[in-house]
Amino acid sequence: MKPAKKLSLPVWIFIGMLAGILAGLCFLKNPDFTTNYLKPIGTIYINLLKFLVVPVVLFSITDGVISLKDLKRVGSVGIKTFVYYMITTAVAVVIGLALASAFKGLFPPLPSAELAELEYAAKEAPSMMQVIVDIFPDNILAPMVSANMLPVIVIAIFVGAGILAAGKKGEKIGEIVNCMNEVVMKIMMMIIKITPIGVFCLMANVVAVNGPEIVGTLALVIGVAYLAYIIHVAVVYGSSIKFLSGMSPIAFFKGLAPAMICAFTTTSSNATLPLNIECCNNMGAEPEISSFVLPLGATINMDGTAIYQAVATIFIAACYNIDLTLADMAMVVLTATLASVGTAGVSGAGMIMLAMVLTSIGIPVEGIAIIAGVDKLFDMGRTTLNITGDATCAIWISKLERAKKARMEARANAKA
Ligand code: ASP
Repeated sequence: MKPAKKLSLPVWIFIGMLAGILAGLCFLKNPDFTTNYLKPIGTIYINLLKFLVVPVVLFSITDGVISLKDLKRVGSVGIKTFVYYMITTAVAVVIGLALASAFKGLFPPLPSAELAELEYAAKEAPSMMQVIVDIFPDNILAPMVSANMLPVIVIAIFVGAGILAAGKKGEKIGEIVNCMNEVVMKIMMMIIKITPIGVFCLMANVVAVNGPEIVGTLALVIGVAYLAYIIHVAVVYGSSIKFLSGMSPIAFFKGLAPAMICAFTTTSSNATLPLNIECCNNMGAEPEISSFVLPLGATINMDGTAIYQAVATIFIAACYNIDLTLADMAMVVLTATLASVGTAGVSGAGMIMLAMVLTSIGIPVEGIAIIAGVDKLFDMGRTTLNITGDATCAIWISKLERAKKARMEARANAKA
């Protein structure tokens, strides 16, 4: 008898998701069960992923900087990555705004009495300048303890650059960082193995709690957001992969599927980072590039979040019967791009930063309460986009670096 073929991890993750949806539907009438018993197991899985985030980002970016070998290369890869991230995010906001404006007529203004009752205890969103200032830490430990990723990235880049600049004396530390990176990656692989169980538990709870009724009137705005997500994936990521990276988009999405499913269910770019690195490397990204570009992207590149913020802004404005001017829209492009940079790669963070966008154009922040109940559904799609955008960048920059290396080798051979 032929031995039964072992199913691969991505297949198990997919089975976990389908089984989770089915279980969620079974518990529609009794979501307490999923909340009390399945969600905690999902939370354990997310906690395990999260506790690794600071070491993954710290060691992989430092190691990534060191493996780029010279400071000039760090600068050139960093600038290309940053420009790619900012441009794709701004395009995402424009797609979100255009689509939501097209459907605006279908968003009903809510009766003001109902609005007055809405209470959303918005955490105070930081101002734009504050977001920029907060990127630079005044203390080396505090950002790591609070898992504040932007300053952790700055620390990692400085440590890596310091090791490179120290030359011979920095080499030993560089080796230690490289070994630590290896150890952290091994721990990560252990945790990744339990993804199907985590996905099952989280999915079951989301379906049971956000049953069809809750989605109700919000189905339309969720649909608009998802339409914008799909357009962005097909047009922006599809063209980037095909034309910039010269890869088949189908092969790319197939290769990235495990990470996309993980993002969809965990709603955290940070938690998906290990799997994203793994998928990109399997698709031929250069490990030293993906270990620099992806952690950076998980923290500053949030195209899905930007689309969500644009759609949600138009929707909430419509609920309050406010018409946005062109200047308001331009402001939304700017603030949503910046807000997505400042958004942490954790579940629900995009909704908090939405307050910054709404405030910038004078829309009542309380409006967030209208969509807060279904934020999870928006978050599932936006996180999937967030990590996909990072992956397209890692594949592209890897291709550029390979071409550059080939050019340099050819030049060296010609000289010899
Ligand atoms: N959950 C998203 C992420 O981790 C951030 C957000 O809430 O928009 O990528």
